[in-house]
Amino acid sequence: MNDAIQPDALSIHRTIVTLDTHIDIPWPTGPDPFQDGTRRVDLPKMIRGGLSAACFVAYVPQTGRTPAAEDAAYHRAIAMLDQINEMAAVDSPVVVRIANRADAIVAAKADGVLAIVPCVENGFAVGADLTRIAAFRARGAIYMTMTHNGHNALADSCNPRRDLGDREAEHGGLSALGRQAIGMMNRVGMLVDVAHTSRDTMVQAAEESRSPIVSTHSCVSALCDHSRNMTDWQLDVIRDVHGVIQITAVAAFLKPNARPEDVKVSDFADHIDYAVNRIGIDHVGISSDFDGGGWISDWRDASQSPNITIELMRRGYDRGALEKLWGANFLRVMRVAEGLSV
Ligand SMILES: [Zn+2]
Repeated sequence: MNDAIQPDALSIHRTIVTLDTHIDIPWPTGPDPFQDGTRRVDLPKMIRGGLSAACFVAYVPQTGRTPAAEDAAYHRAIAMLDQINEMAAVDSPVVVRIANRADAIVAAKADGVLAIVPCVENGFAVGADLTRIAAFRARGAIYMTMTHNGHNALADSCNPRRDLGDREAEHGGLSALGRQAIGMMNRVGMLVDVAHTSRDTMVQAAEESRSPIVSTHSCVSALCDHSRNMTDWQLDVIRDVHGVIQITAVAAFLKPNARPEDVKVSDFADHIDYAVNRIGIDHVGISSDFDGGGWISDWRDASQSPNITIELMRRGYDRGALEKLWGANFLRVMRVAEGLSV
């Protein structure tokens, strides 16, 4: 047996761009992100875990579909995005840069500073006013999920909110407004995120969007049948439009009815393997959904992020493959969206 030097997982992990594409921030207030605290993600945990970039998400919960509720959701999203942006002005030994373009994420890594990437979860906050999409992008948001749980004015969700009066499907996928919203997202260079959407919404968004769609936090149905996961044909659609699925660390998406403590990084890697085998290494990535429901027994918080790299290397993924999974694929799609914006 050849005892040549094996590539060191930790040294690779520390030198590549490592982007986690879905992390919830606390609202209205929470622990100081500059301190090591009770959250699964804060800046000290990112540094310890060699995580170079993180999508911080302004998530707005679904409520009744009134203009007043949509306005409130919009103002909450704006306030959350403002709070994310204000992190860059904090005087701290930990240097943070707000990154709203792919090149800025790469540059932050080269400069040894953390990249925080603003995002929006739930098109409910758009209401019927598409100029709000430009306002989100003006605050750096690089993607918006078309829905969360519950249908909204733009699109149908994979999880109808019966308690809010949702039927199984409302628009049959995208509404006319939702198609216009995607046009606006394309114009401002924002990615169309189909995590949480119905399957009809997803395939229609793939056709409608000029930039490749993404799912920033989903897993695969073949290994765990869940409404939030992607079927084989959905994975094929993502490949066909040159998009990306970011496998996520939500226990119930990884193993049927599982509790987080019963799920391991090896289960997470099984979903990576499946997606890579199905649609290729260029269309798969990594997310945690930390502080939004995601964590598993050996990826409990951002400080344990090297465990993902170690497991993937054990399975034969080399440096180039790890680079793609940990960010290069997502950055590629960001660049396409940026290039199409006017
Ligand atoms: Zn989500």
